[in-house]
Amino acid sequence: MPSSNGIAMIVKPQLAKLGLFDAKVPRYTSYPTAPHFNNDVGVNLYENWITGIKPGSSVSLYIHVPFCRRLCWFCACRTQGTQTDNPVIAYVDVLKAELDLLAARLPQGVTLSRLHWGGGTPTLLNPDLMRDLATRILDVIPLGPGAEFSVEIDPNEIDQARLDALAEAGMNRASIGVQDFDDEIQKTIGRVQSYDTTRAAVDMIRAHGITSLNADILYGLPHQTKSRMTESVQKLLSLNPDRVALYGYAHVPWMAKRQQLIPSDALPTPEQRLELFETARRLFLWDDYAEIGIDHFATQDDGLTHALRTGRLKRNFQGYTDDQAEVLIGVGASSISRFPQGYAQNAPATSAYTKAIREGRFATSRGHLFKGQDILRARLIEALMCDFQINSAEILRDHNISAQELNEMYQRANADFNNLLHVTKDGLFIPPEARPLTRMIARSFDAYDLSKAGHSSAI
Ligand code: SF4
Repeated sequence: MPSSNGIAMIVKPQLAKLGLFDAKVPRYTSYPTAPHFNNDVGVNLYENWITGIKPGSSVSLYIHVPFCRRLCWFCACRTQGTQTDNPVIAYVDVLKAELDLLAARLPQGVTLSRLHWGGGTPTLLNPDLMRDLATRILDVIPLGPGAEFSVEIDPNEIDQARLDALAEAGMNRASIGVQDFDDEIQKTIGRVQSYDTTRAAVDMIRAHGITSLNADILYGLPHQTKSRMTESVQKLLSLNPDRVALYGYAHVPWMAKRQQLIPSDALPTPEQRLELFETARRLFLWDDYAEIGIDHFATQDDGLTHALRTGRLKRNFQGYTDDQAEVLIGVGASSISRFPQGYAQNAPATSAYTKAIREGRFATSRGHLFKGQDILRARLIEALMCDFQINSAEILRDHNISAQELNEMYQRANADFNNLLHVTKDGLFIPPEARPLTRMIARSFDAYDLSKAGHSSAI
C-alpha cells in the first residue's frame, strides 16, 4: 500500500490509468489461490503428506469453528448462526475425532510452533468445551518452545470463565475484530460492538496475562469518512494493540448474500477507499508502528517487525506471519493445510466434513499439488507482498531458473506498469510511490487464469 508520499508522488489519474481503481485481484494468502484448487488432492495424498512430515519438526495448527451467535451483514465468512450449544458440542466431538485421525499418522516428536483458533467465533465454545478441545490438541501435538497460541476473540462473546479456560490452556495471543467504532457504520454493517465492550474485553484479556493483542479494522465501509476513520483509529490506538490488520471491506453481495442488507450507495468510491486507507496508515505510523507488508502494522518490538527487518516475514492464510514452519495443518470444516508438496482443503460444508470424519476418514475434498513453476512463483509473489522486492540471488540459489529467464519475468512485469518498477542487477523493487499497485504487480507473476475467481478490489 502507499508510502508516506506515495499518493502525492503518483497521482490518482496515473493510478486510474494503471487500473488500480477497477482491478479485482487476489490477496495472495496462498499461491495458487483457493479458487484454483482442484480434485488432484484427496484423502490418500493428504495422508501421505501427513505421514511424510519430518519427525521432530515444528508445525502450525489451525482449528476452524464455523459458528457464530449472530451473522454480521458485512462478513463474507462461511459460518452458521446458532443460539444453542448443541451444534457446537457435536462439532467439537468431530474436531477431536479428526485430531485422533491425525494422532494415528503423525510422525514422532512433532511439536507446534503456532496454534490458532479461528472462525466463525471460537469463543462461542463454553469453558468446558474449550478445555476439552485444548487438552486433546496438545495431547496430539504439544506446544514447542516459544510457541504462540492465539484465539480470535469476539468482544461480544467473551467472559471471565472462558478467558480462564483459554489462559490455563496456554493461550498467549488474542485477536479481536473491531471493523469501525462509529455507531452509524456499525448499525449499517449489522455488527454492533461498542468501544466500551471492546475496551472491557481487552482489559479482561490483559488481566489474564495474555499480553499480545492483534486487532482488525476495516476501511471502505458504508458511511465511512476520513474524520470517522480518524476517530476509530484513535480509539483503537488507545487499546495499544501489538499488531493491526487494516483490511479493505470487500462488497460482494452476489457471493455473500447477507451483504445485500448493506446499501451500496453508502459505500465510498475506490478513490475514497484509498484516502481512507492512507488516513489510517498515517495515524499508525505517527504512533510509531512499523508498516508490515501491504496492510499490517506492528509495534517496534513485535515479532512481525523483527521478521520484516531480518527478511523472515511470510504470508499465510491469516495475512502476515513470522512463523517459519514448513507445514500448516488445518483442522475443521473448510480448513486448508499447506505442505511443501501442495495444499489440501477439508470439505467446506460442515455436514460433509462431519460425515467423512464420523466414517473414520479425513475430509479432504480438494487442493493443489505443486508442479512446474508453482513454488518459484509462490516465492516471487510472497517476496513482493512481504518486502516489496525480489532478491535475485535468493531466487537463483533456491529455484531452477536462469538469470535471463528471471530478468525477462521482471521486464514483462515492469512493462505492464509503465516502467514504474526498478529492475537492477540485484532484483526487482517496487518503489514507494508504486506500492498501492503491489497486489496488481504480484498478479503479473501469477500463471493461473484469474478470470476464474471472484477477487476483491485492488485497494
Ligand atoms: S464478523 Fe465474526 S461474528 Fe460476525 S459473522 Fe463474521 S465471523 Fe461471525
